[in-house]
Amino acid sequence: MIVAEQKPLKEIINMVSPFKKLLIVGCNECVTVCHAGGRKEVEQLAAALSMAAQKDGRPLEIKEVTLERCCDPEYIEQVRPFIDQYEAVLSCACSVGTQYFADTYPTKWALPALNTSFMGGSLAQGIWAERCAGCGNCILHETGGICPIARCSKRMLNGPCGGSTGGHCEVNPDIPCGWQLIWDRLVALGRIPDYAKIMAAKDWNTSRDGGPRKIVREDLTI
Ligand code: SF4
Ligand code: SF4
Repeated sequence: MIVAEQKPLKEIINMVSPFKKLLIVGCNECVTVCHAGGRKEVEQLAAALSMAAQKDGRPLEIKEVTLERCCDPEYIEQVRPFIDQYEAVLSCACSVGTQYFADTYPTKWALPALNTSFMGGSLAQGIWAERCAGCGNCILHETGGICPIARCSKRMLNGPCGGSTGGHCEVNPDIPCGWQLIWDRLVALGRIPDYAKIMAAKDWNTSRDGGPRKIVREDLTI
């Protein structure tokens, strides 16, 4: 899932202050799971922005809506019947959803209420951690199912670096060393010789270094 968190309220208040009519849009997918931009967060944010506007003596009309998914055009279309009544969209979706609003309604400001952080999963209630950096050419089969790109602070393909200490990363001792995790997994799998294999330099063209990416499945296109 994509993990995001709400921007500081002060930043959002400043962002919306030029507008008198605001459409706040939440998303029922990833940002609902990480409690950042679902229906409940949209309600809370709308209440906080209304109170702030009242306190500052600014008129502010807000409509709240939460869409099934904000990264698919058909759902974004659902606000078209009433979008013209509002000056701006405050998106509680991830940044992909926010950009879909900007693309679909070019005359409306699309404002991000969230900071989109990473792709990951939950470790425990209220705790999410990065697990994939979207490199576009997965090598988990080489590393015992632990991603050296997302979980090593230096994205090393042949690790560990000289700073790994007691299983922790030199960048921050609270972070487990990704390469220690890979070693532990290879030991558990009985695949220790795999650790000595030198991984060739990675072709980063499939990651962000190759520019904006796109997947085309011609069998699914209509
Ligand atoms: S190797 Fe690439 S695709 Fe696989 S988990 Fe790591 S970053 Fe994601
Ligand atoms: S200590 Fe481990 S996780 Fe940290 S940068 Fe070095 S190899 Fe990567």
